[in-house]
Amino acid sequence: MIGKKMEAAINKQINAELFSAYLYQAMSADMTVKNFLGSASWFAVQAKEETEHAKRFYEHILERSGVPALAAIDAPKATWKSPLEAFEDAYAHELKVTALINGLLETARAEKDYAAESMLKWFIDEQVEEEAQTILAVEQFKMVGESKGSMYMIDHRLGKRGKE
Ligand code: FE
Ligand code: CA
Repeated sequence: MIGKKMEAAINKQINAELFSAYLYQAMSADMTVKNFLGSASWFAVQAKEETEHAKRFYEHILERSGVPALAAIDAPKATWKSPLEAFEDAYAHELKVTALINGLLETARAEKDYAAESMLKWFIDEQVEEEAQTILAVEQFKMVGESKGSMYMIDHRLGKRGKE
């Protein structure tokens, strides 16, 4: 049985994960419009992953006889100047998500909720990956600046995610 405080905190996180999915889907749409199809594909894969994150939290609540609460999802931003700007926003967003996950772990510890703590360990590790992947794309796009050919190569490489 999950406690009310932990249940409420995880329900908030379900909404945050679904917002992440929305944000990355918006980035995917905008990158498609701007013909950066590799980045578009990368963000689409990420959007799908975020719905899976939401599902993990949702299942955790249900498994422990809690009640998932699905709140309204905020609209994300719709356009970015470049793939660099989109990945900069993605990295900044992931830093915020890491802080949210850390906050959940603090709540789990304060509540002595060891089941939630154990479940959250996967997310702590996942955030290391999320930050690393997004900052790598930021740094690579920064490295090439306005060079169209190099931008194309980085975009192409990003498009390989989930297809190797
Ligand atoms: Fe996530
Ligand atoms: Ca990931």
